[in-house]
Amino acid sequence: MRETSMTTSVDLDAEGVQHGHLILPHSRDDSAWGSLQIPITVLRNGKGPTALLTGGNHGDEYEGPLALVDLAATLAPEQITGCVIIIPFMNLPAFRAGSRTSPFDGGNMNRIFPGRSDGTPSEKIADYFQRYLLPRADVVLDFHSGGRSLDFLPFAACHILDDAAQFARCRAARDAFNAPFSLEMREIDAVGMYDDAAEALGKTFVTTELGGGASTTPETVSIARKGMRNLLIHEGILDGTPERAPSRSLIQPGDDCFHFASDGGMIEYMATLGSELRRGDVIARIWETGHTGRAPQEISAKMSGLLIARHFPGLVQQGDCVAVMAVEVFET
Ligand SMILES: [Zn+2]
Repeated sequence: MRETSMTTSVDLDAEGVQHGHLILPHSRDDSAWGSLQIPITVLRNGKGPTALLTGGNHGDEYEGPLALVDLAATLAPEQITGCVIIIPFMNLPAFRAGSRTSPFDGGNMNRIFPGRSDGTPSEKIADYFQRYLLPRADVVLDFHSGGRSLDFLPFAACHILDDAAQFARCRAARDAFNAPFSLEMREIDAVGMYDDAAEALGKTFVTTELGGGASTTPETVSIARKGMRNLLIHEGILDGTPERAPSRSLIQPGDDCFHFASDGGMIEYMATLGSELRRGDVIARIWETGHTGRAPQEISAKMSGLLIARHFPGLVQQGDCVAVMAVEVFET
C-alpha cells in the first residue's frame, strides 16, 4: 500500500488544543492545484484513552456535525484526560453539497472502507482513517441520521460482535450514550462500512441514527450533545456526571425487520415512527402515479414490533427501503 497523499496541519501527539485540517491534494477543473481541507480539532491532556468523534460520514446528516462543531469550539484540554479527535465533516465534499455521497466521485464513505491510498478522493479519505486515525483510537463514535431519504426514531447503536468482551464494551458505551432508544443493530449491507473497520480493529464503536429528512430538531441535536458528553465521561476522558434518562432497548431479530417497495409511487404512511405494530398490520400504502382507479400496494409488517425508520420523501421508487422495525426487550 502506497503512502497516503493526505497530510495534516495538526500534530496528533501534541499537548493542548489545535484546530487545523486534514489536507488532500485534489486537482480538478476549477482548481488545478487545489486541495480538500477537512477541519479537525485535536485536544490532548496527558496520558489516557483516545476518542475519535466523527460526523458528516454522509453529507446530508446534521445532528453529529452540530454537536461536534460545538464541542470543538468549547472543550478545553484541562477538562479531559487523554485525547479527543473531532472531525465534524468526514466526507467534506458530500457535506458541502448537502448530499449523502461525494459529488466528486459518488463515494459513499460508509461503503468504501478500507479505502485506497491511490483511489478517488473519498477512497483516500477512508484510507487515511483506516491507517492513520482508527489505529490511534480506543473509542470511536460516528454520528448518523436519516439524511434526505430516511427518518429514524433517535437511537444509539452497537452491533453484535463475535468477541464477547468487545461486544460488552460496545454495548456499555452505547448505553452510556443514553439516547431515547438503544439498538443492537442489524445491517442490510455491512461491506465497506466504517463501523466494520473500527470493530475489526478491536475498537469500542458506537453509532447513531438521530432523526432524518436532512434537517434537525432541538431535541435531536440535544440528544447528540448529551450522548457524546456521556460517552466521554464513561470512557474516563471527560470529567463530570453523566446525564441519564430512560432508554428503551431494541433488537433486530432478522431480515424481516426491513420492508421494501416492490413498485414506485406516492407513499401514504398508516403508522408513525414508534408505533407498535402486529405482524400483518399495514405500515404504508403506495399509490401508482401512472393510473387512477387502482388499489394501492400495501406494505404490511413482516413481524411484530416498533416502527423505527421510514422513508422520508412522499415519493418512493421500486426497491426503496420504506420501513424498518425492531423489537423492544425488557431487561430484568
Ligand atoms: Zn448516515
